[in-house]
Amino acid sequence: MRVYTHPACLLHDTGPDHAEQPARLRFVLDALHSAYPTLDWHEAPRATRGQLLRAHAPALLDAVLETRPQERIHLDPDTVLSPHSAEAGLRAAGAGVAAVDAVMGGLATRAFCAVRPPGHHATHDTAMGFCLFNSIAVAALHALEQHGLERVAIVDFDVHHGNGTQAIFEHDRRVLFASSHQVPLYPGTGAREETGEGNIINAPLPPDAGSAEFRAAWSGRLLPEVEAFRPQLLLVSAGFDGHRRDPLAQLQLETEDFRWITAELLALADRHCSGRMVSMLEGGYDLEALADSSVAHLGALLT
Ligand SMILES: [Zn+2]
Repeated sequence: MRVYTHPACLLHDTGPDHAEQPARLRFVLDALHSAYPTLDWHEAPRATRGQLLRAHAPALLDAVLETRPQERIHLDPDTVLSPHSAEAGLRAAGAGVAAVDAVMGGLATRAFCAVRPPGHHATHDTAMGFCLFNSIAVAALHALEQHGLERVAIVDFDVHHGNGTQAIFEHDRRVLFASSHQVPLYPGTGAREETGEGNIINAPLPPDAGSAEFRAAWSGRLLPEVEAFRPQLLLVSAGFDGHRRDPLAQLQLETEDFRWITAELLALADRHCSGRMVSMLEGGYDLEALADSSVAHLGALLT
């Protein structure tokens, strides 16, 4: 298994008191180094303009890459652009592309991208919800268009709905998007009735739902849909903000739930994808819960 990261991801400066802070990734990196001293680390390359344009409008690329602010500016109340943010966004998206290349090229079976900013709220033309580029969408489109795959599944267990990922693929049957998330919660999408072309599967969970409801949603509904889709590659938006300690949401998941879902996804990848699975860090805002959950996620990925 490979792990991708880049120092620039620590330099995306969202300002004091912002939940999506550099310390998040620092905690994840320190915890992974401590728990797994022999991980196969790789430096994430920059995503190219062509790779980003598969998912995004030129105007969004220009807004993120050409602005190059001298100090922090807000793209919206949640989403910040600092002097190093463009580089962080390019490396985060590039990590997913490189991870897809690695698993498709047989260099590894599984990969994890320890990156920030997160990506799953960014739409075709709008950076939002802490996200600049939709890294998981860029990775999926790279798998489809560079590696010639016909079916890629994106599963998303971040506590927030991946509205950007859904919007990018809701009319693209090559991709199945399966998500559990808290409703009501930011960004307000993710109702069960949002089904795209039959390729969008949403499992909203009520606030205060815990392990039982989460596991029932995946076992009873989401995993069977992914199974029936027979993906050739499994991509994971791995957000750990469903943890009971997370300050931004109310789900009551335990660290062990993230180990459980990871193991379930690996079994599915073994059945359909020759084991190929790429996971990308999304949310998670309690630093210790995030670190513990990442260690549990990697623990399963390393089995
Ligand atoms: Zn989230």
